[in-house]
Amino acid sequence: MGEPRVARVNRRCGLVTGAGSGIGRAAAIGFARTGAAVAVLDIDEAAAAETVEMIKKDGGEALAVQVDISDESSVQAAVKQAVEAYGGLDFAVNNAGLSSHKRVDQLTLAEFERVVQVNLSGTFLCMKYELPHLKGGAIVNVASNGGLYAIPNAPAYVAAKHGIVGLTKVAAVDYAADGIRVNAVCPGPTRTPGFDKWAADPAVIARQEAITPLGRLATPEEAAAAVVWLCSDAASYVTGTTLSVDGGRRA
Ligand code: NAD
Repeated sequence: MGEPRVARVNRRCGLVTGAGSGIGRAAAIGFARTGAAVAVLDIDEAAAAETVEMIKKDGGEALAVQVDISDESSVQAAVKQAVEAYGGLDFAVNNAGLSSHKRVDQLTLAEFERVVQVNLSGTFLCMKYELPHLKGGAIVNVASNGGLYAIPNAPAYVAAKHGIVGLTKVAAVDYAADGIRVNAVCPGPTRTPGFDKWAADPAVIARQEAITPLGRLATPEEAAAAVVWLCSDAASYVTGTTLSVDGGRRA
């Protein structure tokens, strides 16, 4: 193990998964703007490198790390690489995920299991390898409004996201004595490349806007702001909770 590339004196460091796109990218940029060094983890190496370029152009410090969060050895290696680069972890954001839009009778078992494997088991694996490196600090898991109530036509996704909320609550209780806070952000529909894959149809967007009290979709930056806040000292008494960023839908 070499010397940490960035001294941690007065400087925070952490990692964000799925930071090659959407909410994860906006969160990585948001952390970097607070002065933190950020490991940008994504299965898509080019996308992660692009986020790092954006952060560096902005005067920040970041490192691209390729990871498949559904693969244990890949997660273990990626967390190790981030920790070795920056000398530890002050925050970890488990954001990578994918959605699925089929009813129960249309889903194959393999499709169901893949959605659970990436979203839920992936979040578990990330936490498993991050927690030993957190000396205090905070974890944020990005769940969904579908982690709190039903989204029609998305049983695998909703089951996995409810699981993430459960994992978050138990970890918050189990690691509170170590000074580690664990929370979940539950975004509602947010205009990201991932969202546009299934909802680029203007009729779908109009329907989503119509059922959202604020009358519009979120930007990735709006969801990311909640993530960055939960990892900050401003949220020092907040743990085991879910923070909805859903334009009022939960209400
Ligand atoms: P996105 O598809 O734009 O970005 C997701 C990123 O995760 C991509 O860069 C992708 O390459 C990466 N990724 C996918 N599988 C991976 C894997 N196995 N290992 C590592 N990286 C992987 O998605 P987004 O809309 O920004 O969503 C981010 C998170 O927010 C997801 O967990 C999603 O479920 C959640 N969310 C999004 C919305 C929304 O409307 N956009 C709403 C609620 C919750």
